[in-house]
Amino acid sequence: MPASARHNVATMTVTFAEKLARIPHYEPGISLDDAKARAQTSDAVKLASNESPLPPHPQVIEAIAAAAGDINRYPDPEARVLRSRIAERCETEPGRIAVSNGSCEILLAAAEALCEPDAEIVYAWPSFSMYPHMAALSGAREIRVPLADGWVHDLDAMHEEVTAATQIVVVCNPNNPTGTYLPAERIAAFVESVPEHVTVILDEAYIEYQAVDHPDATIDLLPDHPNLVLLRTFSKVYGLAGLRVGYALCSAQFRAAVDAVRQPFSVNLLAQTAAAEALLHQDDVANRVEKNIVERMFVEEGLGELGLEIADSQANFVWVGLGDRDESELVEALARAGVAVRPGAALGAEGNLRVTYGNRDENQRFLTAMADAI
Ligand SMILES: *Cc1c(COP(=O)(O)O)cnc(C)c1O
Repeated sequence: MPASARHNVATMTVTFAEKLARIPHYEPGISLDDAKARAQTSDAVKLASNESPLPPHPQVIEAIAAAAGDINRYPDPEARVLRSRIAERCETEPGRIAVSNGSCEILLAAAEALCEPDAEIVYAWPSFSMYPHMAALSGAREIRVPLADGWVHDLDAMHEEVTAATQIVVVCNPNNPTGTYLPAERIAAFVESVPEHVTVILDEAYIEYQAVDHPDATIDLLPDHPNLVLLRTFSKVYGLAGLRVGYALCSAQFRAAVDAVRQPFSVNLLAQTAAAEALLHQDDVANRVEKNIVERMFVEEGLGELGLEIADSQANFVWVGLGDRDESELVEALARAGVAVRPGAALGAEGNLRVTYGNRDENQRFLTAMADAI
């Protein structure tokens, strides 16, 4: 190679794929460390990520410890034990269950497996911050349908956006970040009305927390609707967010499709072990749900006394309207009091806060800080 050509190559810089420019920038808001620094304390509380304030079940921790000695081996690529326990728990077949490194992984895999660049993805807004990534990564066109009054999904308006090009409709129920819930009956009617070429992803990350329907009501829809996917996670009520395990109840075809676009060992050995154990403790899940409802009532009452508007939550967090108060000032004031919450501006609706229910002490600290701040 002549010296001049070598010189030219050496001065070229790395270029990244064009889709990178489409990927939304994730606004983390105020982190726990930010809150600790602002409050000059080490015991700041994080009510910003909808995690469970409760540690995992003790037998889950034991199972992880027992499995730790085996991590020189790869995990089961089929996650057979975990999938058969989910199947038992949900009264379906293991062949209709896809497991994943957090349920977010299935959202992205679904977009990759279902969408060519001329496809359309319909979802509500504000809703979960991962949905925009589905369009950005696959190159599909996204159609955001504003929530209706009361921050609930406008299923009629979403239905009107369905075309021959629609590949995915995502419905988040209960909805993150608003906590609002549509009864299973309404969901059933919607699934019934959507054309069969559309995959309906029902994101049920918080389904266990709602007290309107039996948490498994939508599972009954699966046999009649091969285009329906129920997305669930161990990150919320099971208290395993740090391990990253999610799953989809779906058709065998959907499972094969999302498996094909992912690496074979996406759920690690400790995560498979822990999730399989956690499923055996449904009494503990019920207990967690009950505790959350008690804290929901406590926080809602406290916010009501402060005269703040809140959405009707069926999840483990509350969506608080701030009226004409300055959102970023309020978020800063809470951080200075050692309380980290998620600002609405980062979630597509400035003038609101999303606050996760913590334990009683944490919730009291939030309410006190909020009373001081407004
Ligand atoms: C937390 C959450 C998830 C689950 O994410 P994981 O990847 O399983 O941790 C999925 N959907 C929504 C709406 C969520 O809020």
